Amino acid sequence: MASDVDAYAGTEGAVARRDLAVRAAVEQGLVGPAEGDRPLVCLLDVAGIRSAAAALTEAFATALPPGTPVLHAFAVKAAPLVPVLALLADAGLGCEVASPGELALARAAGLPAERIVLDSPAKTTAELREALDLGIAVNADNHQELRRLDGLLAAGRGAGVGRGSPIGVRVNPQIGAGAIEALSTATATSKFGIGLRDPGARERLLEAFAERPWLTRLHTHSGSQGVPLDLIAQGVREVHALAEEINAAALRRTGRRQIDTLDIGGGLPVDFGSDSKVPTYTDYVGALRDAVPALFDGSYGLVTEFGRSLLAKHGLVVARVEYTKTTGGRPVALTHAGVQLATRTVYAPAAWPVRILPYDAKGAPRTGEPVAQDVAGPACFAGDLLATARRLPLLEPGDLIAVPDTGAYFFTAHYGYNSLPRPAVYGFTVTTDSEVHFALVRPAQTPTDLITESGGPFRDALL
Ligand SMILES: *Cc1c(COP(=O)(O)O)cnc(C)c1O
Repeated sequence: MASDVDAYAGTEGAVARRDLAVRAAVEQGLVGPAEGDRPLVCLLDVAGIRSAAAALTEAFATALPPGTPVLHAFAVKAAPLVPVLALLADAGLGCEVASPGELALARAAGLPAERIVLDSPAKTTAELREALDLGIAVNADNHQELRRLDGLLAAGRGAGVGRGSPIGVRVNPQIGAGAIEALSTATATSKFGIGLRDPGARERLLEAFAERPWLTRLHTHSGSQGVPLDLIAQGVREVHALAEEINAAALRRTGRRQIDTLDIGGGLPVDFGSDSKVPTYTDYVGALRDAVPALFDGSYGLVTEFGRSLLAKHGLVVARVEYTKTTGGRPVALTHAGVQLATRTVYAPAAWPVRILPYDAKGAPRTGEPVAQDVAGPACFAGDLLATARRLPLLEPGDLIAVPDTGAYFFTAHYGYNSLPRPAVYGFTVTTDSEVHFALVRPAQTPTDLITESGGPFRDALL
């Protein structure tokens, strides 16, 4: 029915899908009652992920002249799950990878070389050689890496190495920090890229491009959670200006432009305090157009590298409340979701607050008078708390909590404290008649898996 289709579209639709998914996860036994051994499950909203990918694609396509090459490379570190990469690839996206593992995942997901971009500040010679062999785009982080590439390209000339990998240089516009220091990539002393404002740095970079006609890209990633849009846009403006300068010099020298593509990174922030999806990709494109209108004149191809903004809103942890008690006058709910899934929240709660949505044992939203209570995880250290003095209906054993907005950098960045296993991840879809279908994306780790990972096969190695 058309009305049902509408009920599952937009922000309200996403909330409706979430409630249906929690209930269905209980009914279908993915997470369950105290007698069972399914205390925890992670869910991904497939329609939500598809709509995010479509919104990103649409926002840039609308702003650029038709035919401008654009690659939206998903930052794999945000959700390194092969079925997720395959889903995004099916939606037309690529992958940004920053380690041999992430590259392997992207290839396992079926991504072709021309849709993969390799960044990372510490690429080994072997990694660079593999990328050149495959024809994957590479962004060099520094002058030493460029010299390594010189050697590889010289050695490979005529020997089949190098299939025309587009190669760029990562620059740091040094525009300043956002609200979260650890995620601010464009401070004066950030470890990433070549700082543009350091004395002599710009001249040296212009020389590096003049000496290497195969350098055809500039890369920056100046944002992340906590960095405001206009600051990100300012970083992109600096990089665009540098590209114009390099191209003007190349035109004088050779009669041809040198840089054909700008990789503008990712970093669109996410609202962890509500179901709002603001700022949107359209907002981001608007901020870029205001700051650097020429970016959209079609003279450069674009690469983007969004991670968090594509996945965060579409992931959900559902965990059982195992016990409750009152300590020092404060109620505490002991749940199965803690530091293993929400590492940043536990160690830096002020920077990474999460919402806690209460459900009853059947998966129906809980109502009731809000009471300040702590929501704790299962790990054996006192700081393992997802929320402190949070006002919620008083939780009871067997209730469920859902932790929304956890599709990026939460359960996909597992922390193995206390040998807590990686939980199962399922994708879900909701049909127009409100049926929920789950597809296994990653099984839960078993004790046997944990033994193997923990040196079990080498039991006597130290005897
Ligand atoms: C982490 C990272 C991204 C993605 O950042 P988000 O904040 O998740 O969008 C993109 N590019 C590079 C180089 C990164 O390190």
